[in-house]
Amino acid sequence: MNKCLICERKSESLVCEQHSKVYKNILEGYELWKKAKGLSWNDYLSELSENRYAGAWVRLLAKKMLELGIRAP
Ligand SMILES: [Zn+2]
Repeated sequence: MNKCLICERKSESLVCEQHSKVYKNILEGYELWKKAKGLSWNDYLSELSENRYAGAWVRLLAKKMLELGIRAP
């Protein structure tokens, strides 16, 4: 993986520096949802990708991570 999943800019990690906050938000959200709802990582990404209250980038990134089968770190 050497491109940002959101903007396709070159990146060493899943997302570029500009979008690292989006990725961080997803990870932090998972900690909360796991506790509150007992969701698995995939269920979480799936719900998030369709959550109208989530930001557009969050939804996009969640969807791509789900499609690519990216696991929780
Ligand atoms: Zn990016």
